[in-house]
Amino acid sequence: MKAAVLEGIERMVVRKIPNPILEDEASVILKVHACAVCGSDIRIYHYGNPRVHPPQVIGHEVAGEVVAVGSQASHLHVGERVAISADVPCGVCNWCRDGLGNMCATNYAIGYQFPGGFAEMMPLNATTVRFGAVHRIPDNLSYDEASLAEPLACVINGLERCNIALGETVVVIGAGPAGCMLMRLARSYGATKVLAVQRSSARFEVARRLGGADDVFSSQEADPVNAVLQATNGEGADVVITANSSVESHAQALQMARNRGRINFFGGLPKGSPAISLESNLIHYKELTMTGSHGSVPRQHRLALELISAGVIRAGEYITHHFTLDQIDQAFQAAEGRAGMKVVVHPQSH
Ligand SMILES: [Zn+2]
Ligand SMILES: [Zn+2]
Repeated sequence: MKAAVLEGIERMVVRKIPNPILEDEASVILKVHACAVCGSDIRIYHYGNPRVHPPQVIGHEVAGEVVAVGSQASHLHVGERVAISADVPCGVCNWCRDGLGNMCATNYAIGYQFPGGFAEMMPLNATTVRFGAVHRIPDNLSYDEASLAEPLACVINGLERCNIALGETVVVIGAGPAGCMLMRLARSYGATKVLAVQRSSARFEVARRLGGADDVFSSQEADPVNAVLQATNGEGADVVITANSSVESHAQALQMARNRGRINFFGGLPKGSPAISLESNLIHYKELTMTGSHGSVPRQHRLALELISAGVIRAGEYITHHFTLDQIDQAFQAAEGRAGMKVVVHPQSH
């Protein structure tokens, strides 16, 4: 089969590799129909990752069709359409047993230790089939739409850490695909005012259209902290979420938050980012709650598929680019270019 193989730092080679085989009777093989490019794929491409050992096929926002099933994976069937998400609980540690598989110390993931979706086919091993997020795609969703359940699951995980209450004001810093999903879903959680902070004006329009933001503030042209304070009668926002990879936004989040506000560091920073000093007295006097979030658990991925199916998140509108496997370099460039939003690779198209 054809696959885009990460051979090393910034070296992605499209070549033939052996077809995956059923490793054991508890495993499954998928024909990949859609694999969306994630910001973390781009980070792996440029900087590598301790959990990715080249040569490896990466890509973890996957939707495909079951083409082979071991006799012990009887809950899945050949021909079934399934979406999968990145984090695979090991199933045996305390975190995984408590339903917090994204906290697993082993931290298995599709497209990291396990082969990913930038290939015509991919194996799902026994651990993934048993404990991972492998969910049937609702009939009204395309493979493209279903592939976005993975990032949406991470968004749900972030919002669950924020405890948004009815009538609150939420600020999201960064209007990329995840940022826009955070804005949109914050509204479903009861936020009545949603504000976006975005560096480049290229994404102002999507923050309003996809995210449904009431207002978008540029962090390049003016001080976003002042802008948020002005928009909230000087009080600040109840919830501030950072959905970008800028260090400054972490410090700004503390300043934008209202007394008793909650902050979620949703977006990871590039490896080797400098440690920052936070004005910790802000946390003390404002009684702030700081949270982080990363990845998702299978429950959130299943919920994400339901939300897309119900039209709460219109996944199709996030997809701006489509590429074949042979065009993987262009796909990564487009995803990095920020001109568009989600980029989907179609391994079955030529
Ligand atoms: Zn992802
Ligand atoms: Zn575990």
